Amino acid sequence: MTTSTRSVDSLISRIIAETAMTAPSTGRAALSPRVLEAIRSVPRDRFVTPADLELAWADTALSIGYGQTISQPFVVALMTDMLELEPGERVLEIGTGSGYQAAILAELGAEVYTIERIAGLAIAARARLYELGYERVHVRHGDGRLGWPEHAPYAAIVVTAATPAVPPALVDQLAVGGRLVIPLGDAWGAQRLVRIVKPERGRWREEPILGVVFVPLIAGTSGGEVQA
Ligand code: SAH
Repeated sequence: MTTSTRSVDSLISRIIAETAMTAPSTGRAALSPRVLEAIRSVPRDRFVTPADLELAWADTALSIGYGQTISQPFVVALMTDMLELEPGERVLEIGTGSGYQAAILAELGAEVYTIERIAGLAIAARARLYELGYERVHVRHGDGRLGWPEHAPYAAIVVTAATPAVPPALVDQLAVGGRLVIPLGDAWGAQRLVRIVKPERGRWREEPILGVVFVPLIAGTSGGEVQA
């Protein structure tokens, strides 16, 4: 067994344990086996900076430059599970960062649209995803609060940066029957992960999931425009 196989196994055990521990709050005692399989399949060591290579399979968020982070694998797994994606569904991610969450969504067979406000991160994530063969991930540099109307409606939307209120454009672009997972709260303050479900047009319902810490969702973009 290679070191990396052992690291993946211990990460999966850790995620299973954290899922059980947080079940009273999330209402999920176990995650879908498909989600755990996706965590196994995506080489997280390719999404972290070289300095953090040894921590690539640790269940922890890591810095990716520009003051941003790649999320903790347990939180990525939980958010993905809450989206209840079926193969072929369209999903929108706000906050591409390293591209790790986008790759997990692609592993589940989804058509992934992802938006990042920092040009350098968007460019690096697109190159990395392309190199790893994730052809069903479309990366755009822009302000994710506005969504990506050209490909709406989305069966699922996941926001990986915290904001005090749900951006209205995202609810508009969510399909009827769609699921939206978002950390709500102040920057670096108390945040809670919530799921929004939209049973019919013009109506939506909020379900609390778990207390979390995410970097803030910031208005506008940074760096030059990158073609979608
Ligand atoms: N999903 C990422 C983690 C991203 S951290 C991963 O798997 O690696 C949150 C990201 O959201 C950061 O890269 C940050 O630059 C980005 N972000 C913040 N505000 C944004 C906005 N308005 N539109 C798009 N991206 C935004």
